[in-house]
Amino acid sequence: MTVQAFAPTGIRFENIEKRYGGLYALRRVSLEVAPGECVAFAGRNGSGKTTLLRIGAQLVRPSGGSVSFPGANGDELRGEDGGVKPPLQRPDAMGAPLGFVAHATMVYDELTAEENLLLFAKLQGIAEPGARAAALLEEVGLSERRGSLVRTFSRGMRQRVAIARALLSGPSVLLLDEPATGLDPEGITWLASTLRRMRDAGRTILMSLHGESEISALATRAIRLDAGSVAADTRARSDMRAILTFAGA
Ligand code: ADP
Repeated sequence: MTVQAFAPTGIRFENIEKRYGGLYALRRVSLEVAPGECVAFAGRNGSGKTTLLRIGAQLVRPSGGSVSFPGANGDELRGEDGGVKPPLQRPDAMGAPLGFVAHATMVYDELTAEENLLLFAKLQGIAEPGARAAALLEEVGLSERRGSLVRTFSRGMRQRVAIARALLSGPSVLLLDEPATGLDPEGITWLASTLRRMRDAGRTILMSLHGESEISALATRAIRLDAGSVAADTRARSDMRAILTFAGA
């Protein structure tokens, strides 16, 4: 597949807070992820990983703080709380080159793999949606099953569709929520090689994971969240293995 040109982009969370009623899902999280980093988030259930990824993907509005996307050459896009652009539902609409893969893959069961990609390509205003969908189906190894309804797919195949969908816009930042969960060993190996290609192409990757695996081996940095705060970060010279295998993580 032709590699889509993209500008290397990082992601900066500044004092991010998220409250649900009286519950703090995130407590003033500040993190700077440089362009090209591959960050694994670990932490117990409920520690705030999904919320942070969804805020990064501009799908959830923080109660406080801001998200921005510093480029490699100093240019910067602000997130929805940054004050420059109005609040938006679609990340691509504000120019932030994001792809998000949710834990529940959010693909349409009653459409084929190809129809799913065509639908989202058209919604995102992608040029030549047919060619783009075909190239991505090839990239994720689903060309032969492109005409099958997604409801007939295994978790691993649905994950492939979800990843293809996240790649439609040629994003430079990819956020993945528990991408390895529910995959069989073959699926994990496939996911690891796909993410390795993305990482090696210079895309910035943020993903939540449980424990060590072929996927965590790709990480260049690990961060552990605990009760909505950053409890450990290999940037602060913590040991990556200790973060990923922390009891309860
Ligand atoms: P993790 O991904 O680490 O399991 P989450 O980000 O899903 O953690 O959740 C962090 C906290 O926020 C949890 O206490 C969770 O119950 C709460 N939470 C997440 N989303 C919502 C929501 N939509 N409404 C109310 N509480 C929520």
